[in-house]
Amino acid sequence: MSDNTLYQLLGVSRNASDGEIKKAYRKLAKEFHPDKNPEAGDKFKEISFAYEVLTDPQKRRIYDTQGLRGLQEGGGGGHDMSGFGEDIFSHFFGGGLDGMFAGMGGRHRGPRRGEDTVYPLKVTLEDLYNGKTSKLQLSKSVVCAACGGTGGRSGKAPEPCRGCHGRGIKLHTRQIGPGMVQHKQVMCSDCHGEGELMNERDRCRACHGQKTTSEVKILEVHVDKGMRDGQKISFRGEGNQKPGIEPGDVIVVLQQVPHEVFQREGHDLYMTKKISLTESLCGFQIPIKHLDDRTVVISSEPGTVLAPGTRRGVRGEGFPIHRSPFDKGNLYVRFDVDFPENQWAPESVYPKLEPLLPPRPAFTKPSGAHVEDVHLDDFDPSSQSRSSRAEAYDEDEEMHGGPGVQCAHQ
Ligand SMILES: [Zn+2]
Ligand SMILES: [Zn+2]
Repeated sequence: MSDNTLYQLLGVSRNASDGEIKKAYRKLAKEFHPDKNPEAGDKFKEISFAYEVLTDPQKRRIYDTQGLRGLQEGGGGGHDMSGFGEDIFSHFFGGGLDGMFAGMGGRHRGPRRGEDTVYPLKVTLEDLYNGKTSKLQLSKSVVCAACGGTGGRSGKAPEPCRGCHGRGIKLHTRQIGPGMVQHKQVMCSDCHGEGELMNERDRCRACHGQKTTSEVKILEVHVDKGMRDGQKISFRGEGNQKPGIEPGDVIVVLQQVPHEVFQREGHDLYMTKKISLTESLCGFQIPIKHLDDRTVVISSEPGTVLAPGTRRGVRGEGFPIHRSPFDKGNLYVRFDVDFPENQWAPESVYPKLEPLLPPRPAFTKPSGAHVEDVHLDDFDPSSQSRSSRAEAYDEDEEMHGGPGVQCAHQ
């Protein structure tokens, strides 16, 4: 599985020593450095890569045993190869590694993939119930048609970036203490990590050398019956384009706005309905406007008592099930009972009402000195709890120190 490409690049044998490799590299680097030899293209990148691999004992071992593929896959054991990126590999093979591995039965690694673009789409509960097609207008970058993504006028090729010598990264050295320095690789800001730049006068006029242009795109988003809040709808490959990179997806995330009447949980719908005391005791018929504009009438037989907080369900009037829209969940209604106000009727009415209601529990007033009538006040927990606690405390004091206690002992 190994090959000799990197050794051949430096013109050394497979068992060359570190010293020999360094010597060979220095000689070639002088020759192919972009500052001295702008015509050499990627040669400098390649020899730098070969040098980096062959002078690192671990990377060299991986390369010797598994070849370039081993390096690209991280060479077993979490070795960080992120400094290279995949594009360095494609420099060796032009069309990337796909062709090379196709005949080897190796793991397929597609071209680099761009990031997905996420768009929220606000929908109502009605939209999710009935289904809807929304048009989403978005602006995305596309590979420039005028230059085919090279960024240059016809026949003009980019030159290796001088700021980073074509590597796309720069080494930042920072003193972090006496005699201690820290090396850090940062993306080259001149070429944005691409390692090459188009000469200003050779830049494509359509994209100004950016390689991509902006385009307005309209996507039709099909919101299916039964889809839910937070559900993602993907448009494969509709993300921003960049030359040499497979575009990512556009991902639309549904965001349901709260509904005035219904709450949804899974396939079921929940609502609260306020009914009058009369309806709770004597039955009712109540129209409810459903999410598809139908009116469903719920009813309760006279004699069926709906106490406050009672729940009832209507089978099959819930939410359509995604991809099976003729199956639906249930609708659950919770009833709040609106009791009448104080003095809702002339005083003469109450005695006439009582015989109609269920009998009250029997009551005989106990006799004797320990029976007291007290007044039942309106209760407001916020204003009363403090003073009632204070009163209880005062009573305690009296009981322990007051004359009542002595009395009891005599
Ligand atoms: Zn262009
Ligand atoms: Zn650069």
